[in-house]
Amino acid sequence: MSWEDNVRKVVPYVAGEQPKNQDIIKLNTNENPYPPAPRVAAVIKGFDYDILRRYPDQNVSALVSALAGHHGLDREQVFVGVGSDDVLAMSFLTCFNSGKPILFPDITYSFYDVWADLYRIPYENQPLDENFCIRKEDYIRDNGGIILANPNAPTGVASERSVYEEIIRANPDSVVIIDEAYVDFGGESCVPLIGKYDNLLVMQTFSKSRSMAGLRIGYAMGSKKLIKYLSDVKFSFNSYTMSNLAIAAGVASVEDEAYFAETTAKVVATRERTKRELARLGFVFPDSKTNFIFAAHRAVPGQELFEALRANGIYVRHWNKPRIENYLRISVGTDEEMDKVLAFLEDYLKNKE
Ligand SMILES: *Cc1c(COP(=O)(O)O)cnc(C)c1O
Repeated sequence: MSWEDNVRKVVPYVAGEQPKNQDIIKLNTNENPYPPAPRVAAVIKGFDYDILRRYPDQNVSALVSALAGHHGLDREQVFVGVGSDDVLAMSFLTCFNSGKPILFPDITYSFYDVWADLYRIPYENQPLDENFCIRKEDYIRDNGGIILANPNAPTGVASERSVYEEIIRANPDSVVIIDEAYVDFGGESCVPLIGKYDNLLVMQTFSKSRSMAGLRIGYAMGSKKLIKYLSDVKFSFNSYTMSNLAIAAGVASVEDEAYFAETTAKVVATRERTKRELARLGFVFPDSKTNFIFAAHRAVPGQELFEALRANGIYVRHWNKPRIENYLRISVGTDEEMDKVLAFLEDYLKNKE
């Protein structure tokens, strides 16, 4: 026996690299290529640092109100945390507590199985179909909870709201979490279903469409009952999750609707152009509704392309996992960045012929 036998052992999630070198084209963590809203910059520049002496508002009221207004919900239907990773971790702890296996796809955000393992929640993976779509029948069976990303990551594939509604309606005894980290780039949000189903929890984040990954803001929306349970767990864990500065900057971002719409539209336009170019170069990919494209080349293996791009200062994401080992997840950068990536690929593939 040793103390080590009594330690909780986990295999942690591995995030995409954050290299020190600023010269690289960084398309490996789905960050937004545009800066946060000008109003966010103004709030940070004018921030009264003396406030940092004080604990922040433990109810995060200003940001909860702004988000409730933005989504047409009551304040009691919104819960804010330190990025959606924090809110998701808290939600797993709160909602997946039955001892029965929770369900999620075989190819999805690779943090879900890490949280399940951390909390000792049993889980079963349901295979996506050959087009990387979920099959709703797979989620209409006995379970301890369901977590689905829509659009899904790393595939970029979105399904219609009606598919999720059927799953939610068929599972009144489980909480169904829909992770909408990328929904602003073209998915169909399940927020309109919140009033109809009190077992639904919808996650969103400021990290992608609001260009604020560095400040760490994510949130959940759901029935008042469900949000109260989530909130009780948070207050049993750490009352002061959101800093003063994050709250102020978050409010400023929500208030700058025009900038949000403009930058999101720019990312979508660049994505659509990049899709056409990648197809021309011999790549295949499911139709992305996100700020990344999950693409495989018809002839050249994923690992080889990943390494060639990296050697040339272009970072994308690649997983050596069954079914997806030939795919690269390429975040959508600026038009200039995508032009460089496409030019490199065109050149590399030409030299292979
Ligand atoms: C990026 C991402 C998150 C987490 O984002 P935060 O930065 O923690 O808000 C959650 N789910 C998916 C599917 C993501 O891609």
